[in-house]
Amino acid sequence: MSAISLHAKPSADYDQKVAAAQSLLREAGELYQPLTQASSLGVEDMVITHLLHSLGVKSEVFVLQTGKLHAQTLDLLGTVQRQYGSQRAIRIYEPDAKAAQTFEATNGKDAMYQSIALRKQCCDIRKMQPLAQALEGKRAWITGLRKEQSDARAAIHAIEDSSEKIKINALHDWTLGDVWHYVKSHNVPYNPLHDQFYPSIGCEPCTRAVTLGEDFRSGRWWWENEAAKECGLHVTA
Ligand code: SF4
Repeated sequence: MSAISLHAKPSADYDQKVAAAQSLLREAGELYQPLTQASSLGVEDMVITHLLHSLGVKSEVFVLQTGKLHAQTLDLLGTVQRQYGSQRAIRIYEPDAKAAQTFEATNGKDAMYQSIALRKQCCDIRKMQPLAQALEGKRAWITGLRKEQSDARAAIHAIEDSSEKIKINALHDWTLGDVWHYVKSHNVPYNPLHDQFYPSIGCEPCTRAVTLGEDFRSGRWWWENEAAKECGLHVTA
């Protein structure tokens, strides 16, 4: 069963939500330059890239190529580059090769399973440091965070400017059904892993499929308790 047939069920106010997201992205393009979109190549981010493209909003898109992504995710990156790359920069940020090699040589390939501290150290090298580079010089960044994704995300707002960068959560109030309805309606490309019960896709060693009814984030860092489950990209101090 495909993710579309399973999830594409729009809310009663779907049209208003799409209009609000369009208006927010247009406004961001006018007010907050230089602007960039953080894309994990997950389905929400694919919807946002499609929205930016269809609206002609001036914004780069960046992807953190951690060196641990699934082959399917890398294939989708190629699709994004072909489909959208002529209109906007698709930037790829990678970890410092020496730091990543030293970490693995010292702690082993499976270090992330040994302790939360080592897992966070790996995320720091492969995600947080490249993220800092991606955001350098940017006024604002767009994310695909949604309130219903987890308890930790339930309090997010459309625009957050408490940190030094303005963060725009364009799909903050969308349901999973809204997201997949948009994908279906606009033929948005997506990661085939979503059809194999991967609702949230990160690095290969730290992502697994979930069963029907399991929480959205339960396939990420599944060996840790819920409170620890953010890589730092979207943690508010
Ligand atoms: S998600 Fe896993 S593999 Fe990826 S950076 Fe974090 S600990 Fe490392």
